[in-house]
Amino acid sequence: MTVIALHHFIDGTWVEGGGEPLVDVNPSSPRDVVAEGPGASRADVDRAFAAARTAFDGWRRTPARTRAAILLRAADIIEAHREAWGRELAREEGKTLVEAIAETDHAANILRFHAQEVERQSGGVFESPSPGERILVIRRPVGVVGAITPFNFPISIPAWKLAPALVWGNTVVWKAATSVPVLAMRFAGALEQAGLPRGVLNLVNGTAAVGEAIVAHADVDAVTFTGSTNVGRSIAAQLATRGIPFQGELGGKNASLVLADADLDVAVEQVAIGAFRAAGQKCTATSRVIVHEAVADEFLRRLAARTERMVVGDAQAEGVEVGPVIDRAARDRVAAAIALARTTATVVVAPEPYGPDELDGGYFIAPSIFELNEDDPGELWTEELFGPVIGIRRVPSTDAGVALVNDSAYGLSVAVFTTGLADALKVIEDISVGVVHVNSASAGADLHVPFGGSRASALGPKEQGAAAREFFTETGTVYLRG
Ligand code: NAD
Repeated sequence: MTVIALHHFIDGTWVEGGGEPLVDVNPSSPRDVVAEGPGASRADVDRAFAAARTAFDGWRRTPARTRAAILLRAADIIEAHREAWGRELAREEGKTLVEAIAETDHAANILRFHAQEVERQSGGVFESPSPGERILVIRRPVGVVGAITPFNFPISIPAWKLAPALVWGNTVVWKAATSVPVLAMRFAGALEQAGLPRGVLNLVNGTAAVGEAIVAHADVDAVTFTGSTNVGRSIAAQLATRGIPFQGELGGKNASLVLADADLDVAVEQVAIGAFRAAGQKCTATSRVIVHEAVADEFLRRLAARTERMVVGDAQAEGVEVGPVIDRAARDRVAAAIALARTTATVVVAPEPYGPDELDGGYFIAPSIFELNEDDPGELWTEELFGPVIGIRRVPSTDAGVALVNDSAYGLSVAVFTTGLADALKVIEDISVGVVHVNSASAGADLHVPFGGSRASALGPKEQGAAAREFFTETGTVYLRG
């Protein structure tokens, strides 16, 4: 298949990087090289910031509707390429083709949403205690934003950061995850073709070192980051010493809680989808399942049967439900956790690992379920593994279930399965996570409502919906007399 030349978009031009060589491979079939070329160097990052700073004044003065029109055109371009870019996404990242095309559509819709959002009321007018005065509250862009994105949603996470950043008048220096530069190039290319002025968006691809250069840059006014909790917190700590705002959407260890009156058909299907789609590599994926003991045996029997039926294979192949994890290191990490769980927990479903010659040598992990040891549930209970693995625990009551949901350093998403309104309401009040699903999978976020977690799952203002503007604008309070 074609090997795509890896480029960077700096000051309105596609350029070769001056940094270390990068090779982007297909995790379904690692001999298939998707893209290669030099990553960005520190000098490339400097040029990107210089371009973003120069472009900022003109861009912030551009009427909001003109800025929005560029996002709308980019959305149309993305939609026109949904099949082709969806296929590239599946090839590069390993999400199934159906999910990859859906993610591409989602990115287009995110651009459309923020293009409209900027036309809503953005400030306020207040009475003043002083005669002849009114008080206005206005919003201004924050300046040059550094954006650092993870591998697992290569086009929709960039869209939900960059669309509000740009439409509110900021300029951006963006680094996509090392393993997904092609979708980043497509997304930046759509905005370029849509007429974004030079320097407003700059894309520098590369490893963590490029992210470090963005964070350390003297000219960055704010940093928005999605990725793991450790990296996010270390970036936040560096920025805090310089007084630079940070927004971080971080890791998760999300639970599904199946109560005694749950509709088990719904619970089984939604837990399977929530845990195993995208090979468990969604920040909102279910990795802990807490089930009421009255229904536990039946639920586990049905969940095991559903899991064993899941089709694992090449992300681009028809009918596949579970593609590979992102790379060899991820595969080895998840495989080691499964091997350990075999000795410390009860196996519900855990097929033998694939051999090196099976499935074209891709980074596949068969969906696995373990019932954890109550005395020592271990890392499957506490650590974000980011793979298709569930740890199960039984509880004697709804209260005990809620307590276990809350027994986590993370607080991103939860799914609760019940047919009782009283239990649903109780759980909504008592569970302290950012996103609560009642009778649907823990994974999934709509673009028009706030998204984000609590505790170790987030830092700073929420993303998406109207909440997005909080980070990308600052308010000014104006005392206005004639
Ligand atoms: P990661 O933390 O390894 O990397 C995220 C990005 O940061 C990448 O672009 C990476 O190159 C860059 N980076 C790494 N080290 C850096 C450093 N020291 N300084 C600056 N940049 C650095 O995460 P990942 O493996 O790409 O993604 C998976 C993680 O992201 C999981 O923890 C998942 O839960 C989280 N995630 C969270 C959300 C959310 O909205 N809460 C959404 C998606 C993914």
